[in-house]
Parts: sequence; structure tokens; C-alpha cells
Amino acid sequence: MPVAGSLSRIFPFLSGEEKEAFRQVTPIYPFSTTDYYLDLALRSKAVRKMLFPSLEEIDPVLQSFGEDDPLREEEHKKTSYLTHRYPDRVLVVVTNYCPVLCRFCMRKRNWLKPRFFITEEEIENVLRYVSANETVRDVLISGGDPFYLELERLEYLISSLEKIPHVEIVRIGTRSPVTDPEWVLKSDICEVLKETSKVWVNVHYNHPDEITELSTSAVRELQKCGIPINNQTVLLKGINDSADILENLFRKLQSIRVRPYYLFRCDPVKGVLHFSTPISKGIEIIRTLFRRISPLAIPYYAVDVPGGLGKVPLMPERYRKEGDKFVLETFNGRKVIMEDEFPPKGE
Ligand SMILES: *Cc1c(COP(=O)(O)O)cnc(C)c1O
Ligand code: SF4
Repeated sequence: MPVAGSLSRIFPFLSGEEKEAFRQVTPIYPFSTTDYYLDLALRSKAVRKMLFPSLEEIDPVLQSFGEDDPLREEEHKKTSYLTHRYPDRVLVVVTNYCPVLCRFCMRKRNWLKPRFFITEEEIENVLRYVSANETVRDVLISGGDPFYLELERLEYLISSLEKIPHVEIVRIGTRSPVTDPEWVLKSDICEVLKETSKVWVNVHYNHPDEITELSTSAVRELQKCGIPINNQTVLLKGINDSADILENLFRKLQSIRVRPYYLFRCDPVKGVLHFSTPISKGIEIIRTLFRRISPLAIPYYAVDVPGGLGKVPLMPERYRKEGDKFVLETFNGRKVIMEDEFPPKGE
């Protein structure tokens, strides 16, 4: 990727502060992009903030409230690449490579580590662990970006997982349709995915500006392989923390047949805290969206509890229980009382 060349091309367009941020921040949190995403950043303020380093990332006071790994992904590993937290699903981080480094990344701690891709031996360890644990029905392949694994290796990992009878789904998390759609269109990744039967893909759009024509083509290519696609968004201060922007994003996602699955509160990760919003902000936004659009376009709002305690969906309260009755709030804010069951208790 001719990134260095591109950067010198854009350097004249950067503000003094942006240049300073490149100098001070990138030795700690590096910069990387595709030409595609760089061009998008030059046209969209929101994308620019997700791509270009800022001095806030190394603000010693602000970032002292963060940890490198608040979710304890490293501590809770069962093999070098596998985390088993929930009874029915495991997470496998197969690489730390991403062509575009997102400033809000919760796995920033891996950026300066030497680039790794899961080895054949380590794949065998993962397969042994999953085979031996029959409660595991769902395997998440994440990264970095798994679409950049050597394709034969990715194919082997997926097909071996699919052969394990108790594995019902294999989920791949990738941001490449957003940051590098040309890769999805030009590599043989779709050839690999066409042959699978249990794969779901989770993509990661944060802003409507990211849903371009090219990105939509990449998504369509994956859909042609019969793959259901869901989206995870991170709530980011100054980028998408408004009901209007998120309504627009979720509607656009639906119009390309991508289901909004999660809206995450930005985790308290060191180097990312300047993007963090109050927990209540997300609840308020979801409450507003329930008044405007179908739940089919509304994701779960979730907070990952520090300490590795897992994700908790925090949806706005739409009911309360009063004795044997329910008080429900309708889409336009009306309160309605309903019996729990028929015939009503105590009559
Ligand atoms: C997020 C996560 C999962 C998947 O959780 P879902 O809520 O099912 O999407 C699985 N394992 C770990 C360790 C996770 O962090
Ligand atoms: S694509 Fe995901 S893992 Fe990669 S840098 Fe962005 S947020 Fe982090």
C-alpha cells in the first residue's frame, strides 16, 4: 500500500496541529491507511477524526483514566489466541494486522507488537479446544482484520470449525468493506466464503459517510455468497454521538441490507478516552430512535464491563411492573396499562 507517498501528498493540507500530532503520537500509536480511506478522510470530517492522530490520544491526564486492556482479553485466554468468556461462544484473535488503524481502536495495545498471524500449529490448538468444549456453538474470528490472513489458512480454519458438529455458527469480524472495499472485491476472499455454510460477517460502520458506492459493492459481493451481515458501531464523541447521525447511519445500513446489531459505548481504553461518552448518552439516543424508526433498524446499545465481566445491553426502559400489571410506554410516549396474563390474577 503506497501510504507513505499518499501521506506526503496530503501533508500540505494538514493543519499545524495535525502535523504535530503525526509527529508526537505515531511513535506510540502508529498511523496506517489505504488510499481509499485516506481519500474519504479528505472529504469527510468524521472520517478524518477516525483516521488522523490527535494530541488528545497522548494527553497524560485524560488518558490516565484508561487501561490498555480493560476487558482482560489477555488474562482470560485459553490458548494463545482464544478467549472463552461466555458459555456458548469463544473469541479467536487471529492477527493484529489492519490496513487502516482506527484512532478509537480498543486493541491499540497490539499495534506496536510485531505483526502476527495465527500459525498452523496455533490453529490446531484452537480446533482442539473448541472440539473438546461442546458448549461452544459460536466461534468469533476477530483481529486485527481476519480477511488479511493468508486465504488458505483462513479457509482451513473456517472449514475445520464448520466440521465440528456442535459449532453452529462462525462469525468473522472485519472492517475491510469500510476501509478497504477494493480488497474485498479484488482478492479471492469471496471465493473462500462462497464455500462456507455457517459463516456470518460482522462489519463495522460508524458514520453514514463510510457507506460509499464502493463500500456498498463490497458488501453486496459478500451477500452474494449467502452471508448474513450485521454491523457493530462504536459510539464516538464528536463523530457519531447524535440521534440524527445514528438514525441516518442505521437507515442507510438497512438500505444495503445490513442489520445494525450493536452500538457500543466506547471502552475505557488508554489512548481512546477522548472519544468516550457518558453511558447515559447512548441510552438517550436509542430512546429517541425508538420514537422515529423501526426496531429492525435499531441495534442493542451495550457496555462492556471492565474487568472482563462481559457485555451488558442497556436499552431504555419501556415498561415498569406495578403489582400484577405492566405499564408500557408506546413509541410516541403514551403510557398504557396491561394485564400480565389472562384471565387477570385475583379475579
Ligand atoms: C464480544 C465478545 C463475544 C461475542 O459477544 P456477542 O454479544 O455474542 O456478540 C464473545 N467473546 C468475547 C470474549 C467477547 O468480547
Ligand atoms: S479495524 Fe478494528 S481492530 Fe483494526 S484498527 Fe480499526 S478498530 Fe482496531
